[in-house]
Amino acid sequence: MLNIVLFGPPGAGKGTQAANIIEKYGLVHLSTGDILRGELAAQSKLGLEAKKYMDKGELVPDSVVIGMIESKLDHHADANGFIFDGFPRTTAQAEALDDLLARKKTAITAMLALEVGKEELIKRLQGRGKISGRADDQDIIVIENRINVYNRETAPVIDYYSAQGKFKAIAGMGTIEAIFDRLCLVIDGLK
Ligand code: AMP
Repeated sequence: MLNIVLFGPPGAGKGTQAANIIEKYGLVHLSTGDILRGELAAQSKLGLEAKKYMDKGELVPDSVVIGMIESKLDHHADANGFIFDGFPRTTAQAEALDDLLARKKTAITAMLALEVGKEELIKRLQGRGKISGRADDQDIIVIENRINVYNRETAPVIDYYSAQGKFKAIAGMGTIEAIFDRLCLVIDGLK
């Protein structure tokens, strides 16, 4: 199985590149942000609870997102592999993911981390906010908080995968095609 963590701060291009990667490599895309927005659109109890955190740019509690990922992994038991987008976002989530995958006799192959500077992130998120309608992309205070939360709570996940020799940095600036080519080069080297 090819199991990839597509990593990076908000606005790094994870969703865009995940869509390209799943098409080329036939992987299942698991985005915790997308799943949470789906729950919110369905007005489920989980979605309404998560909204309180998402609206402020804070992380939803680990137990909630880990439970969601577990049920999605069970749902796609016959997948060729997964691309995890926006998950894990804390070291506790990374540890839980390792446990879940070990139970399925598989593991993370690599973490591909898209690197993009703060100014560009803000520009991209504000641009997306104009078309996506996402509340958390509309407010500069929330955008700044999401980047701060990334630096404080999520960036340490890099150390977790570095210690396993699985961290690969990818320059996330330039055209979507150029970034995709860089990702493919690394993915092809994993196989
Ligand atoms: P995203 O679409 O990945 O930018 O996520 C949007 C929001 O959903 C985040 O700002 C968090 O509030 C929440 N979220 C998404 N994924 C996670 C996660 N793995 N852990 C905690 N919160 C998450």
